Amino acid sequence: MSVDASNALLSWYSVDKRSLPWRVAEGEWPDAYRVWLSEVMLQQTTVAAVRPYFEKFTSLWPGVERLAVTDDADVMAAWAGLGYYARARNLLACARTVVAHHGGEFPDTEAELMKLPGIGRYTAAAIAAIAFGRRAVVVDGNVERVVSRLFAVEEPLPAARATLYALTDTITPDRRCGDFAQAMMDLGATVCTPRVPKCLLCPLADQCAARAGREPERYPVKAAKTARPRREGVAYWLEHEGEVLLVRRPASGLLGGMLALPTCGWSGEAAPPPVAAQWQDGGSVEHVFTHFALKLRILRAQAEKRPEGIWWPIERLEEAGLPTVFAKAAVRGAAE
Ligand code: SF4
Repeated sequence: MSVDASNALLSWYSVDKRSLPWRVAEGEWPDAYRVWLSEVMLQQTTVAAVRPYFEKFTSLWPGVERLAVTDDADVMAAWAGLGYYARARNLLACARTVVAHHGGEFPDTEAELMKLPGIGRYTAAAIAAIAFGRRAVVVDGNVERVVSRLFAVEEPLPAARATLYALTDTITPDRRCGDFAQAMMDLGATVCTPRVPKCLLCPLADQCAARAGREPERYPVKAAKTARPRREGVAYWLEHEGEVLLVRRPASGLLGGMLALPTCGWSGEAAPPPVAAQWQDGGSVEHVFTHFALKLRILRAQAEKRPEGIWWPIERLEEAGLPTVFAKAAVRGAAE
């Protein structure tokens, strides 16, 4: 990209950038904690979904030291509903590492950032560029789309990722690197959209090979999708005197460390029902995870005695921070 095009993009960004709660006014440096928190939350999650969680987390834990001393269960509960729960576990591990080994200050290079839990190449580059002004190649899904169009890349995703990274490297300037990265993200989110890109409003239109070829929507080229596998399982809704039995899932694995209904069958476990009881059909719910689609059948029963376990008042179940699939199952379980 020519210097003129890079300047055109930065000028466009100065006027048309999105107003986001983790951004600061031009000329100010954002707090690395807020940049890190927003980037972790935005992994595979939309800006609209992240906004209220970002506001909640920064109001509960305004800095990394406060977050680092918080109980795991409180953070997991606050994260509930945002999905990809390994991020919340890594968030805490990262906050504690920053406090224990870096004096509460995030390191300012990609290489050091990538040694922290939950920080991969993209997140390290984004923090280094946005919070510390380092030259870093920042490629998220929006940037992939813009670059694949600018250069009319015919290689299909996901194999094209290395090519798109290398091409982004060729157009990343040495100065205002954080603004450049965010400008490319914003351009992808608001102008170079997946369908019907607004090429007439685009500051890079003169440079764009896909526009010159008159079919920008054809990019990025994608490999044919394979069908998502389906799994089935059972969730148990066991009530006793206005409370329901919950379990804490194992720390590692899908939905690790989260409170949940007892289950069997869907993630490889073959657990029996939590007690012998007159189990009745409570219907089923569907949920789509990244790698599979789940049909979860609900079995309901009243416990005559109260077995050991985590018993939660049904009236206050929304405070338990159940992940979305169990929140859906609880609606069915509590329905009768
Ligand atoms: S000209 Fe159109 S296709 Fe090319 S980068 Fe701009 S919005 Fe995207």
